Amino acid sequence: MTQKTVFKIADGWLENSRKIPSPHFDARPDPQDISLLVIHYISLPPEQFGGGFIDDFFQGKLDPSRHPYFEEIYRVRVSAHCLIERNGRVTQYVNFNDRAWHAGLSCFEGREKCNDFAIGIELEGSNEQPFTAAQYAALISLTREIQRCYPLIRQNRIVGHCDISPGRKIDPGRYFDWKRYFSGL
Ligand SMILES: [Zn+2]
Repeated sequence: MTQKTVFKIADGWLENSRKIPSPHFDARPDPQDISLLVIHYISLPPEQFGGGFIDDFFQGKLDPSRHPYFEEIYRVRVSAHCLIERNGRVTQYVNFNDRAWHAGLSCFEGREKCNDFAIGIELEGSNEQPFTAAQYAALISLTREIQRCYPLIRQNRIVGHCDISPGRKIDPGRYFDWKRYFSGL
């Protein structure tokens, strides 16, 4: 039987979840406006799971000698609020009340710089492999708690990175099952 995780946010941090603070964040221009949730995927190296390289990347500690791809990206300063690994484990890198650096050039309903008002969640995954049941379960439970704390994030303000950066980003990709996700909320 799978243990269902219930998340609890206090002062912008998940209680009882893994925390690895990233230096890649700053203040939101309007801390009261947290009104968008952006779903991403990431795998490092691409198409490989586990290894802990996402933690390193978001901390600015990726070792370029570990993989040729890392040489291209190790100086890039990005982050997300949370990562959900293949086994459903959730790690938080940035306080939800702060601005994480996940969306880049982006636009939602005519408004640019989505990082200002968004929370970003990364799923460990790619455009080549389905996400896991543990990831959907964790994402649904985490989203519920985020919506409880940040009620401006209604379901019509939960989007993929592809939706706010079209032509530039495709994540969370063809395997992300929006119906499954939304039906669980
Ligand atoms: Zn993304």
